Amino acid sequence: MKLVFATNNTHKLEEISRLLKGKHEIISLATIGCHDDIPEDQNTLEGNALQKARYIKEHFGYDCFADDTGLEVEALDNRPGIYSARYAGPAKDSLENMKKVMSEMEGQKNRKACFRTVIALILNGQEHLFEGRVDGEILPQQQGEAGFGYDPIFRPEGYRESFAEMPMEEKNKISHRGKATRQLAEFLKTAERN
Ligand code: IMP
Repeated sequence: MKLVFATNNTHKLEEISRLLKGKHEIISLATIGCHDDIPEDQNTLEGNALQKARYIKEHFGYDCFADDTGLEVEALDNRPGIYSARYAGPAKDSLENMKKVMSEMEGQKNRKACFRTVIALILNGQEHLFEGRVDGEILPQQQGEAGFGYDPIFRPEGYRESFAEMPMEEKNKISHRGKATRQLAEFLKTAERN
């Protein structure tokens, strides 16, 4: 059975296809000929993930899933949240985004933050949501070179290293996206058995 992953990120597609080896063949937006600018203008991660999945179902007819991720900083009223990719502007520049968060956090004692990933799945006419979360704190300066996005300024709870100082497999074991993806994988495996 074909299941569309509503993303243009080939890295995410490859990662998820590896986890979801089963009856479901994970296919990309390009494979179904979707080159649309899929709307993503809701004010929650859940809303955005559902909006993307519903768009594919309505316009292309496929069962599908979509994800949305945000960094939520407690002292910043959970910003950047849904604005994580473009926090410092439309250029979606990770360095500028991190600088903005670091400057807003200057002198701030409460450094608690979390990453949340929400995956919305539409399967056999039903909608399902999966959430993965990792708690941690915002570092005063960047640490490490690996990863992407806000990884150099996020230190997960119980660790000394930032996400950008961890090998990818280590990060995937505890990360928001890793957790949400494993939930989706478990759900699909059970759905396949029934
Ligand atoms: P997306 O919804 O997966 O595209 O993520 C939105 C934005 O959140 C990205 O552009 C990054 O800035 C940030 N982000 C998502 N996942 C991570 C992560 O694992 N590490 C650091 N930043 C992330």
